[in-house]
This record gives sequence, structure tokens and C-alpha cells, in this order.
Amino acid sequence: MMDELRELYQEVILDHGKSPRNFRDIEGATGHAHGKNPLCGDQLVVYLKVDDGDVIEDVSFVGKGCAISVASASMMTELVKGKTVEQAHILFDRFHDMCTGDDAAPADASLDPEDLEKLTVLTGVRAFPVRVKCATLAWHTLNAAIEGKEESSSE
Ligand code: ZN
Repeated sequence: MMDELRELYQEVILDHGKSPRNFRDIEGATGHAHGKNPLCGDQLVVYLKVDDGDVIEDVSFVGKGCAISVASASMMTELVKGKTVEQAHILFDRFHDMCTGDDAAPADASLDPEDLEKLTVLTGVRAFPVRVKCATLAWHTLNAAIEGKEESSSE
């Protein structure tokens, strides 16, 4: 990766890590889940509000963790808000592939290339397996919240 690009990516992660978006709980949430990544000490709670049409009307998180986990959670909330539950699942699958280096197959046509580009900043973690868990924690926790489970662990 070019140095300039890497710097830009780091800036985005630092910005989200310092001032996370949607860092709050949701009154009247339809689901929430706790997620933890014991390897790093990251702990999050993800809240969401899904409407009758399966659209994620609102999504938020609180918690503490390393810059990667917080930045990833912050970006996750921005990306899945307004999407359907199914679209969020598809996006997570793709993001997971991007983080683990298994992204050779073409992306699902329903995915917005702009969304994928935003997630690219986090895929530097693929060189560090421990960091992959930090980057995907918020997404695992979102899934647990959607499925009505209260606990999610990256283990
Ligand atoms: Zn972490």
C-alpha cells in the first residue's frame, strides 16, 4: 500500500476512534447485544431499532476498546443505518471477507461500491489476525442484536 494512502486510512480510523458516530443508546430499541473481544479487551453494546419493514431505522453503540474496534463500530453504525437487515448481513459478509483476505470473488451486486470503499480503510487489519477480531466485533455484535441474542464474543 502506498504511504499516503496508509496515512489517509489511519486518519479516518483515528477520527472515528476519537469522535465515534452514534455513540449513545437508543430509547425504545428493538434489540441490543453485548460484544466482547477478550484478546484485546474491547467491549461494546450495540443497540438497534428495526421497523416493520425490516429496515434498520436507528443503530448505535456504547463501550470502550482500542481505536480499531471503536472506529469500526462507528463506521458500522453509519453504514447500516437505513439498510434492511438482509443488506446489513450481506455487507458484513463482504467486510469479513475483506478483513480476512478472502475477497477474490466479485462483491454481491446489491452492495454499494461507496460503502465498500469506506470499509477498505479497516482492511489493513488483515495482516494482523488479532486485529481482525477488533475490526469485526461491532458487526458480530450487530448480528447478535438482530438475532435477539444478548451476548456476542469474537471467540
Ligand atoms: Zn481491539
